[in-house]
Amino acid sequence: MSERNGLLASIILLCGLLLSCARRAEAQAPAPAAPVDPRAARVESAAEVLPPDVRSAFLAAFRASPGRLYSLLEQAEAESAAAGGLLILVDKAHPLPESHAPADLSDLDLAGIPVTKPGMRLRRPALDALARMVAAAGTEGVGLVIGSAYRSYAYQLDLFARNVAAYGEAEASRFSARAGRSQHQLGTAVDFSPIDDGFADTAAGRWVAANASRFGFSLSFPEGMEAVTGYVWESWHWRFVGMAGVALQDGFFGGVQQFFLEFYAAWEAAR
Ligand SMILES: [Zn+2]
Repeated sequence: MSERNGLLASIILLCGLLLSCARRAEAQAPAPAAPVDPRAARVESAAEVLPPDVRSAFLAAFRASPGRLYSLLEQAEAESAAAGGLLILVDKAHPLPESHAPADLSDLDLAGIPVTKPGMRLRRPALDALARMVAAAGTEGVGLVIGSAYRSYAYQLDLFARNVAAYGEAEASRFSARAGRSQHQLGTAVDFSPIDDGFADTAAGRWVAANASRFGFSLSFPEGMEAVTGYVWESWHWRFVGMAGVALQDGFFGGVQQFFLEFYAAWEAAR
C-alpha cells in the first residue's frame, strides 16, 4: 500500500468512526419531554388540602389516569354550573351566609314523593333525581319516605337550639349542625325516614345504600368518619352531588364525599 493510499484509508476509517459516534449519541439523547398539562400543577396544589394518606392515594389514582380525572372534573363543573352551585362545600368550617336561600325550591309531595309531613321542598335538580330514585325503588317493592329536606337558616337556628336544650351543646354538635353549617340549607340534601340508626337495617336503608349513587346521591356522614366530617354516622342523610360528583368521589377519594368536596373547593379556588 502506498503512503497516499494509507492516508486515504485512515481518513475513511476516521470518518466512519465519527459517524458511528454521532449515531450512538443520537440514540442516547433523551426523547423530547411530553408537554406538561397545565392542569397537573393545579391538581397537585389542590390536593394539598387532603390528609397525607388520602392525598397519596389520590395522587396515585390521578397519575394512573389523569385524563379520566380531568374529564370528570370538567363534567362536574358543567353539572354544577347548570344546577347552580351543586358542589358547594358546607361543613363546620365552611358556613353558608344567612342569606343563602335557593330560588328553585319545589314541593316534594306535589311531585308524588312520599313525605312524613307536607311542605318539604328541594331544589329542582335534586328533586328530579330523587323522584327517579323513589320510582326505581318502588318497582322493586321498596318504599322510600322523606323525613326532612330543605331547611332554612332560621329553621336550623331553632333546631340546633332545641337539640342543645335536650342533649347539651357538645353532644348536640355531633349530630346537629349550627345555622349556616347544614347541608339542608343547600336544598339538595334529604333525610330518609326513619331519621335514626334503625334506618340502615330497613329494606329502604339497604336499598338506598346500594342504589343511591346511581341517581347522583352521596352519603354525607359515613360510619367511623366523625373525625373527618364532624358528625356521627347518619345512614339516612344523603346529598345530591350529580353523576360526575359520585364518580369522582368513588374513583379518586375512596368514596368519601368530604374529601372530594374539600378537594373540589380547592380546585375551584385555584382557577
Ligand atoms: Zn340530614
